[in-house]
Amino acid sequence: MIVTSIASGSSGNATVVCGERGCIIIDNGISFSRLTNLLTIKNISLEKVNALLVTHGHSDHASGIPVFKKYTRIKVYGTYETSDIYVQERGGYGEYQEMGVPIDVFLDEKDDLEISGLQVRAVRVSHDARHPVAYFIQEGNSKFGLITDLGDSDILLEREIKESKLVFIEANHDVNLLLNGKYPEYLKKRIRNPRGHLSNWKTGMILSRTIDEGMNIALAHLSKVNNTPQLAVQTVYGILREGGFKLDKLRALAPFNDPMVYLI
Ligand SMILES: [Zn+2]
Ligand SMILES: [Zn+2]
Repeated sequence: MIVTSIASGSSGNATVVCGERGCIIIDNGISFSRLTNLLTIKNISLEKVNALLVTHGHSDHASGIPVFKKYTRIKVYGTYETSDIYVQERGGYGEYQEMGVPIDVFLDEKDDLEISGLQVRAVRVSHDARHPVAYFIQEGNSKFGLITDLGDSDILLEREIKESKLVFIEANHDVNLLLNGKYPEYLKKRIRNPRGHLSNWKTGMILSRTIDEGMNIALAHLSKVNNTPQLAVQTVYGILREGGFKLDKLRALAPFNDPMVYLI
């Protein structure tokens, strides 16, 4: 399985997972031209893509989907509550802007899906959107988890992380930078809420309960204002080091134009 991070962070997210029989894109919060450019750089043809999975309806994960649907016939998968049908009727969650996503196939979390030989499992996460999920994709013994946009974890999620060989997990902010930074109070509160975003420290604690030596970790969805890749890695590694975890298995995903590729 080959996992490529195309974009990560509040200005847009997209990840591509390719197995032997085809690829899946998870989230599309960037423009169609940027997506296709970045796919071309990594030699991934859209013809090989058989599904687009969406985690939740915040624009940094879903804004590219309406145009994507215009130009491709690739089916969009997501929870019913993330769909345009649901959000038009009931509204988005909370005050933070949430778009209704044009979804073709509604996910049932009780049943795993199989798409192009890849097993897909959705697991609910704690975030301020309508029914947001993390995704775990498995082919043979290799399992990849994409876990972003959450303020807390639970046993179900951590069980899946434990079984993964590679995780892209959010390390959104450094608590001190956030608290002493320029964001207005309501936004600081929203980010720190258990339905907000994970701090570097919280992510380190989740990983300390779930990693094993062989796992590769990429820290994702880093705030440009309240975090740096160095700080995120340093904080998380500071927590994991005691368990004997090796620094070369831990990286931070660059937010822009630098697709990072993992083979698992
Ligand atoms: Zn996000
Ligand atoms: Zn979000």
